[in-house]
Amino acid sequence: MRIDIVTLFPGMVEPVLGASMLGRARTRGLVDIRVVNLRDYAEGKHRITDDYQFGGGGGMVLKPEPLFAAVHALSTEGARVVLLDPRGRTFTQKVAAELAGATHLILLAGRYEGVDARVSERLAHDSISIGDYVLTGGELPALVVTDAIVRLLPGVLGAEGAAERESFSSGLLEPPQYTRPEEFEGARVPAVLLSGDHARIARWRRVQALWLTWRTRPELLKDVDLTSDEQRLVERFERGERPELTE
Ligand code: SAM
Repeated sequence: MRIDIVTLFPGMVEPVLGASMLGRARTRGLVDIRVVNLRDYAEGKHRITDDYQFGGGGGMVLKPEPLFAAVHALSTEGARVVLLDPRGRTFTQKVAAELAGATHLILLAGRYEGVDARVSERLAHDSISIGDYVLTGGELPALVVTDAIVRLLPGVLGAEGAAERESFSSGLLEPPQYTRPEEFEGARVPAVLLSGDHARIARWRRVQALWLTWRTRPELLKDVDLTSDEQRLVERFERGERPELTE
């Protein structure tokens, strides 16, 4: 998979892409990530990329020409162009999985007061927001999107974790995890995790995941296929009971 990040601030993006799992995925050739300086596609002596907005209102807006020129130069067949935009559809694990299926993504990072609307209307296939808050630019959102996608690509996650067990993949939050020591400042690791009984451990994890999701993100449960036993368990949580949590 190839991901191009088009930005006015390559220096903000490059160090993150070189570190840890993203860096390893790149050196192992599992993903081809290119950082593209938008200014390289701006014309004129001063290579201007922004301008005042029509109709008044403070702040500058990214001009359409350099963004269109960059996308036209970078595009390959099937490339998907994504504008990072607080007004876009919300980025979730599901969206990450969907985008991970693309062969080539071109991520456009906005700046200042935003981006000329013709970019979302005529150039981008998709606009994505990483949450209901406004950042100064699209660089951090582009990195968030890139990170979430790359760790889903085949071969990227080694023994560190299987993406399908993690929060949101099953629709539930991930259950609690423990490592050594077995006892820390009087707090013991739940005995079931030391039992070696894989069926019991799986059951305990599922109940914990249900409980955690019900307690902190109950709206997620409506999209999860619960067995009738699990449905009954959730009804007991709702009645204030705490069954099967301490085992
Ligand atoms: N004036 C815009 C508004 O109110 O919607 C905000 C512009 S913001 C200061 C500048 C750029 O940062 C945006 O064009 C976008 O690329 C990026 N950005 C800021 N917050 C974002 C978010 N939550 N998700 C995705 N991109 C974001």
